[in-house]
Amino acid sequence: MSSCLYIIATPIGNLGDITLRALEILKKVDYIACEDTRITKVLAEKYGIKAKLFDCHKFNEKERSEKIISILKDGKEIALVSDAGTPLISDPGSVLLEELYKNNIKVTSIPGACAVTTFLSLIPRDTEEYAFIGFMPRQKNNQIEILNKHRYTNLVFYESPNRLMDTLENISSLLGSNTKVAIGRELTKVFEEIKIGNIDNIIEYYNNNPLKGEIVAMVFKKEASFISDEEIKDKINILKKEGYSLKDISKILSKLYGENKNRIYKLTLE
Ligand code: SAM
Repeated sequence: MSSCLYIIATPIGNLGDITLRALEILKKVDYIACEDTRITKVLAEKYGIKAKLFDCHKFNEKERSEKIISILKDGKEIALVSDAGTPLISDPGSVLLEELYKNNIKVTSIPGACAVTTFLSLIPRDTEEYAFIGFMPRQKNNQIEILNKHRYTNLVFYESPNRLMDTLENISSLLGSNTKVAIGRELTKVFEEIKIGNIDNIIEYYNNNPLKGEIVAMVFKKEASFISDEEIKDKINILKKEGYSLKDISKILSKLYGENKNRIYKLTLE
């Protein structure tokens, strides 16, 4: 009978954040499939883990799935880990799991650190509902699409420190400077920082404090509310300056504010 594949969460910064069960299993398995063996080696050395490490990342996952299935069918045990946090959360593993389920091989997860849940446990909010999109898309048009789609839901995303300022600027120009955001940086690490507030104040803060390290962010949901003609005209002018056609402006703003498209189109002509 095949063995089972263990999906194991590893720390997102502080190497102490690993569960007893994760260590127990990492010490007993024959192999650990890792995103980057050099990173997992640090954890293995710290905790006296002797399993053989091999890489399994987004560029070789399909091919590695065959190797993993064959090892499991031989009755040997394997754990899958990513560089940090929980595998399959913006990390590889989906291709492998599809193959394992097709082959009726058991998979179990050993829960632990994850940047999203660590972040959300630090952010006060009035609803449990949120949308997590993994990494924010890079292109402005794709960002607008996502922000429109999730306007009335708390939107949680991963972002690189090099792109966060541009992304915040895009959010501010689309959703308004009073939009509330939360930024979690370097969670569980020495320079851990949480910032919550009005987006323009957060932009100003990071203009004065260089942005480094790993980031999770949330755009707080907008309340669905009546919007005046004047406010709509302000948004129309911003989008006109960005070169959007009147038709696109009407489409975007009507989706964003739940308003009738013709009402907005008429305002674009004024
Ligand atoms: N699988 C991981 C998890 O469970 O959270 C996420 C992997 S994803 C490739 C890496 C991204 O997660 C980073 O670029 C950053 O956006 C976020 N992240 C990871 N560790 C973090 C930390 N300590 N603080 C803030 N964000 C973190």
